[in-house]
Amino acid sequence: MAEVIRDSAALRQRLGEARRLGHSIGLVPTMGALHLGHVALLEAARRENDTVVASIFVNPLQFDRRDDLDAYPRTWEADLKVSQECGVDLMFAPSERELYPSPQLTFVESPVLSEHLCGRFRPGHFRGVATVVLKLFNLVQPDRAYFGEKDAQQLVIIRRMVVDLNVPVEVAPIATVRESDGLAISSRNKLLTTEQRSIAPVLSCALRKAIELLNDGERSVVAIREKSLAQFARYPEARVEYFELVDPNLLAPIESISGAVLIAGAMWLGSVRLIDNMIWTGTGAVRPSS
Ligand code: AMP
Repeated sequence: MAEVIRDSAALRQRLGEARRLGHSIGLVPTMGALHLGHVALLEAARRENDTVVASIFVNPLQFDRRDDLDAYPRTWEADLKVSQECGVDLMFAPSERELYPSPQLTFVESPVLSEHLCGRFRPGHFRGVATVVLKLFNLVQPDRAYFGEKDAQQLVIIRRMVVDLNVPVEVAPIATVRESDGLAISSRNKLLTTEQRSIAPVLSCALRKAIELLNDGERSVVAIREKSLAQFARYPEARVEYFELVDPNLLAPIESISGAVLIAGAMWLGSVRLIDNMIWTGTGAVRPSS
């Protein structure tokens, strides 16, 4: 059974013991409502480290909408079971007061990287993500930390934060885990109605269309966007927030295709917002996908 730890002092003490034994430490930060995407991260952490720490914290600082924070699925008992099955040693589940004991007056900002994609539509989101992740890195001091490629912009921002702020942690990316119909697994999928769930794979279809066009030699960004977006025409319920071809490292929109391309999109189904992405490596291979 994973040992549940709620406060930072107990966490530090427990990790001190692991470190004295010479254990390597792997961290998997999550917001709970664990699913097969999280399982892929936990399994990789289990394979590659002596001590595995998972964290569950629904971080208010990264929510730009109160209703989204309130509606966010919370499935504590089931999460404990999943983490036990994945061999998690320590489950760090702090309260909001524990992680933000006094008003937080210091933040991690990534202005250039958060200006694009989701960052354009979710003010303060990545500041909240980077700040809480750096707190977790400082508390756990892991050798490795695992993040999903599903949240491509988050991964780029965390990787850059680690480099720019000299954080001694190896960031390990894990490929997006999908349902059999292509839908990227997400905690928010649980909030979809049956009808919305049947429409949801359209985002991954549009991404695949873009990959297919690139593989066929299409090099016009305008044409690729247009033909990919045509996938949504049959589903007026799906409201596309953005669908962009960007530089995989800097996330800025690309005008001409000369190397790898990150294709990323966000769409709304009712009040549920879903994101997905794929990388075209320039040689025809697709990442992330499964
Ligand atoms: P969350 O609990 O949504 O904050 O996600 C915690 C971690 O799991 C993040 O690094 C996500 O990128 C990752 N993750 C979420 N969904 C998936 C998925 N379908 N495949 C791979 N990783 C995922």
